[in-house]
Amino acid sequence: MRVKRNLKIQAIECGTVIDHIKAGQALNVLRILGISSDFRATISFVMNASGARGKKDVVKIEDKKLSIEELNRITLISPKATINIIRDFKVVQKNNVVLPSYVEGIVRCTNPNCISNSNEPIKSKFFVLQEDEERVALQCLYCEHVISENIAENLL
Ligand SMILES: [Zn+2]
Repeated sequence: MRVKRNLKIQAIECGTVIDHIKAGQALNVLRILGISSDFRATISFVMNASGARGKKDVVKIEDKKLSIEELNRITLISPKATINIIRDFKVVQKNNVVLPSYVEGIVRCTNPNCISNSNEPIKSKFFVLQEDEERVALQCLYCEHVISENIAENLL
């Protein structure tokens, strides 16, 4: 019996499919989208699905468009993700996420002595550096500290 790969996740009528998420990052994507027990939209996701380019995660959210802020956060943890906008069960728009060169107020600096971690009302600011296809590093504008791992854990 042949089983089509795309049957793994039910098709959605209207909403957003985030595809080619770095394997293992789907739960972080859900966290970025603020999905908790009181979230009302229908969501489905697959982790470690076999894609043409190796393992990937996929998240589908019905009746939701992502904000720029959400997209920027997703890009930082999964720079190869693609965003598919679905209407009437069809993909009407397909975009790669775009890595911003600079992000403000969305990641905490991991240097405890950084001024952005003091009681001053200062927003964190980072230059975004692309390490390789799958990885991003962030350099703090205040203390020059570089965060190259666990970005997801330090998202604000
Ligand atoms: Zn810093």
